Amino acid sequence: MIGTTEVHSWFIPTTLQKDEALSSWLIRAALDSGCDPLSLTGALWPKWRIWSVDVDRGLSSEHLRALVNTTKIDESQFDSATLQNFLIKNELDSGFLDSWFLGLGTRNRKHRGGWQYCSQCLSKDVVAYFRLHWRFAWHTGCIKHGQRLHDQCPYCLSAIQPRRLQAPDRVMDCCSICKRSLSKIVGSSNDPHASAFQESFDHFLQQGYANYQGNLISLEDWLNITKLFIQLIRKILVGPLTGKGWMFLERLKIYMPHMEFISNGLAVDLLPVIERERLFSCVHQLLIIPQNQFIETALSLKMTRSSFWDKRSQLPAALKPIEDQLEIVSRHYPKNRALVEAFKPRSKQAVTRKFLRLKRKL
Ligand SMILES: [Zn+2]
Ligand SMILES: [Zn+2]
Repeated sequence: MIGTTEVHSWFIPTTLQKDEALSSWLIRAALDSGCDPLSLTGALWPKWRIWSVDVDRGLSSEHLRALVNTTKIDESQFDSATLQNFLIKNELDSGFLDSWFLGLGTRNRKHRGGWQYCSQCLSKDVVAYFRLHWRFAWHTGCIKHGQRLHDQCPYCLSAIQPRRLQAPDRVMDCCSICKRSLSKIVGSSNDPHASAFQESFDHFLQQGYANYQGNLISLEDWLNITKLFIQLIRKILVGPLTGKGWMFLERLKIYMPHMEFISNGLAVDLLPVIERERLFSCVHQLLIIPQNQFIETALSLKMTRSSFWDKRSQLPAALKPIEDQLEIVSRHYPKNRALVEAFKPRSKQAVTRKFLRLKRKL
């Protein structure tokens, strides 16, 4: 008897949606075929533990070939489903993803963070699916429905982990832990400044350059300014409420949402949606206030460069006027006072924050 070498292909009726992430499609394809995601991917890639990596970042040519050969789906259909192509389309380097793409904590399939979603989008879908852009760290709200994205199950408070769904769950808008529907909840309104930040970010990526203080600047510089403003807000957040940082925000009339929320101090791509919304809301307000107002307010409070940024941070040319003015104040700053401030006892809030950060890392 002669052994057969024929390669069998499958018909997968699940259509990839326009902005759907590859992992979402794989999970839906499995559920539509009546099996667990793990079984489907095990059959597609027998030697690859796909769920131990972040598949939405992209497939190697070898893994993509295996997928195309088995499913007979055109390769180009997967183009918009991974970040590989998002980077190529927007001429970004892979470092961008490390800062701005939400980590799911894929180690051993136990996620520390969760995928974001809009309950309204899920409930309006003919078949619920998860969008790739819900994994963008700068996306904190659904512009279409005017509500903040969720990043945990509202019932059992677990992180959203669709890859842990099982065949009997059948649909993606089901919490993989408590099995309740994620689309039947009403969301809170999104913060208007955080939404404006999100829209500018998307727009700048699309056009390939940015706008700051009425000038056209490179995307790289704008991302740098954004990071420096995030650093500034985080520094103020951990400082005492009676400190100059808070007075600075108050004088500039910068509104801060979710004041009560205690930061866990993790990198932006690991922060919960509420904390990112708070940060981006403040950053957007800082981006749009005239620079001379920023400088005047800082000078009136005798603030130095180190009141805002770590001295190792390089400031882009667009922030040079701020740096130059604050340097003048620094030269008159008594050195012994800086030493005293470095050895101040930690506040209760700072200790709680450290504890929360440790807890999240475990
Ligand atoms: Zn929506
Ligand atoms: Zn749940």
